[in-house]
Amino acid sequence: MKLMNQINCPSNADYVVDEFEESPPMSTYLVVYMVSDFVYTEANSENDQVKYRIICKKDLANQTEFAINLGPKALKYYEDYFDEKFPLQKQDMAAIPDFSSSGMENWGLATFTESCLLIDTDVASTAILYEIAKFITHEMVHPWFGDLVTMKWWTGLWLNEGFANYAALRGVDTLFPESKYFQVNNVENFLDVLDADSLQSAHPLSVAIRKPDDIDSISWDQMTYTKGPILFHMMNTFLGENTFKQGIRNYIHKYKFSNAEPDDLWSSLTEEAHRQGTLDKNLTVKQIMDTWALQTGYPVLNVVRDYSAGTVTLSQERYLTIKSNDTDNKTCWWIPITMTTSGDFNQTNATFWLNCENNNLTTPLAKDNEWVIYNMQMTGRSYIIIKRKSDHTHLRIAPDQFFFVSTENPRRSE
Ligand SMILES: [Zn+2]
Repeated sequence: MKLMNQINCPSNADYVVDEFEESPPMSTYLVVYMVSDFVYTEANSENDQVKYRIICKKDLANQTEFAINLGPKALKYYEDYFDEKFPLQKQDMAAIPDFSSSGMENWGLATFTESCLLIDTDVASTAILYEIAKFITHEMVHPWFGDLVTMKWWTGLWLNEGFANYAALRGVDTLFPESKYFQVNNVENFLDVLDADSLQSAHPLSVAIRKPDDIDSISWDQMTYTKGPILFHMMNTFLGENTFKQGIRNYIHKYKFSNAEPDDLWSSLTEEAHRQGTLDKNLTVKQIMDTWALQTGYPVLNVVRDYSAGTVTLSQERYLTIKSNDTDNKTCWWIPITMTTSGDFNQTNATFWLNCENNNLTTPLAKDNEWVIYNMQMTGRSYIIIKRKSDHTHLRIAPDQFFFVSTENPRRSE
């Protein structure tokens, strides 16, 4: 909070007494105190209502320019995104030597390791500047998503961090449009986490946290930071940007200054989706997302195409790098199936759903001389295998590859 008063300490001439404004209600893990002889540079938010400061050691003060320019822009971007005023009157960002993580979203005083906040713009590469921008925007998401609305328990940490990373990528992409930051990073995250999540030893996003040690050992791992954003992107695409954003806003407005859990977000998104007609009334976001957040791994989508009947049969199973006999084959997911035979790659709403109830679905497809592409823009989180009916040859298609069938002679193209 803002400093209200500073007086000399009556009992000790070497000390002063600082008095701060009363804070809003907040979770204890978000409280921080900092005593230092650091210096700061400051700027005002674009609407002049928030004081924004970069605090660091004196000899690094010449490396604050990038952060001090970006902060107010990021603050305005997220204020608009959440449609909710920045909750405090000040936002400090402090560079701490040897800080153990890249950043921490203490409310009003985010702390960073120095290399994640400060940069000498005369010598830095563009790639590094974008990386710093990602750390700053990530911590600028949390004042709303994490601080104003806090998770009820550590089990929901993935929601906090997943959304902060997702919204950070969106923020950098908007503030530096030439970077194509979202596209590039989403692909990298996607492929990284497919690897990690294809092992028997992988764990679900949502993990039961029973003792304090679990928080460090399980919660802050790659799964939390990379699988979460991918799932948010998948939701954004099957619900559509308007529904998704309004659902997030409703959630923030409803739970501000209190706690929430993933089910509360699913409810807000479901309500908005039903209101806007972007999700079947018999379907909820919870039904879909529980299969992705509570289960380990991800599916491989088997697509068997029958050229003569003009149909395709889809089924799913968990993708594992090394299969073992005790592999659980019963796991299944709600998979939004997106596809095109016409070249409209922007059609990212689910054409239909594959789930446990119809996990062997035959649907009409294209004519035998048309190609088909699944998983538009890699928004779904599946590997895809396309096979010809009655034919053992098949192609394994990684999500970043396209599959074309020649319009001349489909048989030869395999
Ligand atoms: Zn975070």
